[in-house]
Amino acid sequence: MTTLDDLPIREDLRGLSPYGAPQQPVRVTINVNENPYEVPVGVQHHLQEAIARELAGLNRYPDREFTGLREKLAVYLTRELEAASDSAGGVRVVGPDQVWAANGSNEIMQQLLQAFAGPGRRVLSFSPSYSMYPLLARGVGAEFVTANRTDAFEVTPALATDAIRRERPTVTVLCTPNNPTGTGLPLETITAAYDAVVETDGILIIDEAYAEFRHAGQPSALELLGGRDRLVVSRTMSKAFAFAGARVGYLAATPALIDAVRLVRLPYHLSALTQAAASAALDCTDIMLAQVDVIRQQRDRLVLAFEEAGFRPYPSEANFVLVAGVDDPQALFEHCLERDILIRDVGIPGTIRVSAGTPVETTEFLSALAEYPGTPR
Ligand code: PMP
Repeated sequence: MTTLDDLPIREDLRGLSPYGAPQQPVRVTINVNENPYEVPVGVQHHLQEAIARELAGLNRYPDREFTGLREKLAVYLTRELEAASDSAGGVRVVGPDQVWAANGSNEIMQQLLQAFAGPGRRVLSFSPSYSMYPLLARGVGAEFVTANRTDAFEVTPALATDAIRRERPTVTVLCTPNNPTGTGLPLETITAAYDAVVETDGILIIDEAYAEFRHAGQPSALELLGGRDRLVVSRTMSKAFAFAGARVGYLAATPALIDAVRLVRLPYHLSALTQAAASAALDCTDIMLAQVDVIRQQRDRLVLAFEEAGFRPYPSEANFVLVAGVDDPQALFEHCLERDILIRDVGIPGTIRVSAGTPVETTEFLSALAEYPGTPR
């Protein structure tokens, strides 16, 4: 039988492993940072009607520029900016020409890397961070380099600027809140990184996949977009918006940057069904986001419970918690799986990552944790 090794794949792909978070039916799925709440029935009906309206026209290609969806995403982002109390002086409006969407923010990242990275170019991130960055960078033939965070997984302005000046990447990616650590970035780090990126002729991507879960008063890089044409803010409907299965991610940036992405996107990459579903879901923004506060509470509950049990959770601005002090992460993973609970060993020694579930799911996990025979250290 032919194996992967027998095939003439690119040499730079040999030995790599595909993305592979375990996917198996269990009672409590808290391993991939999804929203644990189903799409509400009222929204389902609205989606059904919107999708039904597209069916007859599926013989035609969809709107390549997904104009209607971009308008709704722009409204969504503008609404968030208007609500941010500390955005005085910052950007308050995002227009449809500053928004672009794709099949998940993974595809957003891929399109950006196709346009700006590639052979002979570098992509810089600050580890530990999202496990897809190296795969996406290598997928376009770019070199992936990392710089360190502090022991608390923070990125200070000095760490960011030193790394950018040293590595001179074409693309720098900062994730905030960071996956898998939950760490938020101060705007000073982003502005400092931005200045260094301009100095070294690169672009700066801020991956805000988990932005809606940040604590009240925490800023978003959206506020910095005005006058910063090398800045891209990436978002997704997969997490807070409870829409992971629909695959919709998006970005906000200056229109010229979106012109660059148009050069590499596949024609009609967003299907008519995806556009209709995403637009309909955005019509129901308040309902779709209704559980975000409950999820935040469960996140904070996890942090407290871990502390009380003698573990060392990292502060989290996201919908998951990374916790240190786990004697044997694989053993805790197996212990939970035996109880039909799926958590994540992200490969950072002595840690495990747990997504905030519903209150019942969080209780189930905490009961399993209480039964875990290993001792915190
Ligand atoms: N960025 C980060 C930091 C993530 O954690 C994820 C999902 N795990 C993504 C991007 C991609 O999400 P999606 O493609 O569903 O938008």
